[in-house]
Amino acid sequence: MFKKRWLVPFLSALIVMVVLVTIASFLYRFPPAKSPSPTATATACATSQPGSGSPIRSICLKRILVFSKTAAFRHASIPDGKQALKNLAQQHSFAIDFSEDANVFTASNLARYSVVVFLLTTGEIFNNSQQAAFQQYIEAGGGFVGIHSASDTEYDWPWYDGLVGAHNNIHDKHSSVQQATVYVEDPNTPSTNMLPVLWVRTDEWYNFALNPRSRVHVLLTVDEKTYKGGIMGADHPIAWYHAYDGGRAWYTAMGHTSESYHEPLFLAHLWGGILYASGLG
Ligand SMILES: [Zn+2]
Repeated sequence: MFKKRWLVPFLSALIVMVVLVTIASFLYRFPPAKSPSPTATATACATSQPGSGSPIRSICLKRILVFSKTAAFRHASIPDGKQALKNLAQQHSFAIDFSEDANVFTASNLARYSVVVFLLTTGEIFNNSQQAAFQQYIEAGGGFVGIHSASDTEYDWPWYDGLVGAHNNIHDKHSSVQQATVYVEDPNTPSTNMLPVLWVRTDEWYNFALNPRSRVHVLLTVDEKTYKGGIMGADHPIAWYHAYDGGRAWYTAMGHTSESYHEPLFLAHLWGGILYASGLG
């Protein structure tokens, strides 16, 4: 067929080259999808807890770190809080990790999380490098959720005082556990839009070293006329949020009791806070 036999290898090589160039140009225009980075919005969803066995996998929207280290008073409700947050995360397809080891506060590890929840932390729990890593995380757009004694934590760290919004009044930290009436000041947020305007519930009611109203957006106030032990007067904020130093912070003073973590309205309030802090709310 070919009189010039030298043409056969020449044409074969030419065909191979054309095919390779075509494939290369196709890949250049349509590169293969990259696997998601740890900070991507959609990450592989895995729940992990020491001793909890194999992780549960599904598609996850965000990843939460729940931190519950205590260096002072330890609330008996911590296990209830952890279980409730684990349930909420699974219901909403968020990945969730739990820790009480401050060594997880490194810049590279925190960068994996959309929200860091301080669940009933107390006392001085960080060294200087751990504080710096957490500050860097917030400055990079991270989210913070503080529950109850998150405001009874790290009193000597001014940046954290600004983040949480207010520390407890060390001379008169709180009331006894009793029923009080909570007033919903802003009903148009993810952590308040399911609440009754007057929310009657039982908790330990915190007093703060200062009224945080000038620093934060107040969501809920507690009516001191409805319980004994309040010392802040007519304006007593107990839940709030604000943009802070590049990130988002949400805090609720409620959540002392184990029963709190079985109350549907309180859990909805918490989840709304997590949505705000994660940038979804
Ligand atoms: Zn308490």
